[in-house]
Amino acid sequence: MTAKIIDGKALSATLRVRFRQRVADLSGRGVQPGLAVVLVGDSAASQVYVRNKINACRDCGLASYPQFLPMDTSEKELLDVIERLNQDENVHGILVQLPLPKHIDMRRVLEAIAVDKDVDGFHLYNVGSLVVGNSIFPPCTPYGVQLLLDTTGLDVSGQNVVIVGASNIVGKPMALMLLQREATVTVCHVKTRDLAQHTILADILIVAAGVPNLIGAQLVKRGAIVIDVGINRLPDGRIVGDVDFEAVKERASWITPVPGGVGPMTVTMLIENTLRSAERRIGIGPGIGADGWDAAIQPVNTN
Ligand code: NAP
Repeated sequence: MTAKIIDGKALSATLRVRFRQRVADLSGRGVQPGLAVVLVGDSAASQVYVRNKINACRDCGLASYPQFLPMDTSEKELLDVIERLNQDENVHGILVQLPLPKHIDMRRVLEAIAVDKDVDGFHLYNVGSLVVGNSIFPPCTPYGVQLLLDTTGLDVSGQNVVIVGASNIVGKPMALMLLQREATVTVCHVKTRDLAQHTILADILIVAAGVPNLIGAQLVKRGAIVIDVGINRLPDGRIVGDVDFEAVKERASWITPVPGGVGPMTVTMLIENTLRSAERRIGIGPGIGADGWDAAIQPVNTN
């Protein structure tokens, strides 16, 4: 068996065509959706991520409001910037690029973002909304994974899902989202004894650990759907995921590549959340679906 590829780049491009139409609709009502991106310091990696987000805004017709602050910005100064953006009518989404410098309390900053502009979905209110299955802004990476899974046509209800990685931004919200869709979810982490014992049972295996080649073919059930969230730069400069792609693709039914799988979807879902924020503000758009999911996005089959 050679797995079919779940093409995040193609799905992302398809979604962006729809986004441009939604931007045109908003513009016809006198609204230009806008995203503020706050970066403290000059980390090269963070600069790349921020640039990607600004480019995605431009690509889809959104305004972006970059806020580049020096490394020695105090917490109080940063909170003042957030407060100004909270009040700014042109701003529909606020993203604070993580990590923040050590002298700034990340949680205090994330809690300062207005809940209705928290397009990253990291505010405690939005995290809590996931627990009760009434998501306002689903966090971008798990949201993107959800849509990638939808392209396979498999109903996740009743499926065994194993998530490797339990971070606040990927593993844990992913688990909550799929639990909401009635999957049977197992979450593994560093302390998990015998990882293979869990992964081998997965109908859907989602890996977000940040460890190259953590998942070889022997850890994967034949016919499983494998989603690789990991992004790792090898010493020779290559970017790889957490899954041994060449080996696992001979065992899985579907698999995401790295790059070109989850990565492009994360930025695209940030645009989706910002658009939804702008639409909600003027009371248009489909709203939250019956299953707690934003009905703006319907499954798209790119295969
Ligand atoms: P993180 O905060 O470092 O969390 C990693 C998680 O994986 C932790 O829960 C950790 O367990 C677990 N883990 C680490 N090594 C493990 C092992 N050997 N066996 C089992 N579990 C293990 O990382 P993150 O922010 O979630 O990101 C994870 C990966 O996804 C990274 O490669 C990151 O670059 C990538 N990522 C990609 C996107 C995208 O858009 N594609 C977005 C976000 C992140 P403990 O909790 O026990 O420490």
